[in-house]
Amino acid sequence: MILNTNIWQQTIEAAKAASATSPAWLRAIERAVIEIERAPYWSFADGVLVITSTTSKKTYRIDEAHTCPACENGHQACKHRASRRLIQRYTERLQAAPKSDAFAECERAPLARREGNAVMIDGWAV
Ligand SMILES: [Zn+2]
Repeated sequence: MILNTNIWQQTIEAAKAASATSPAWLRAIERAVIEIERAPYWSFADGVLVITSTTSKKTYRIDEAHTCPACENGHQACKHRASRRLIQRYTERLQAAPKSDAFAECERAPLARREGNAVMIDGWAV
């Protein structure tokens, strides 16, 4: 399932523009976009991104205090942190968007993804 919507694309462009001087973050963002678009499952609530890795198939819980071998090398850029930040910004943009746009966006790209029975998150059936 691909999350290819206007607000998502705007979020990616804004993140890249904000990180234009940091090659490490630009790489992390590129990898994060691939992860988010291909992940079999992700959800975001209360500042915590839960995402199943496309490579290891492990489920990661990424919060503000996240660390991993990739981001312990000084520059703190890793695809997990970048993923969380992208989804956070995406959520903010979605909430700031006019109601009709936000509704159309949620229809196409629910804030949580789950196989099987639908669940309600923030009032949206996903
Ligand atoms: Zn990480």
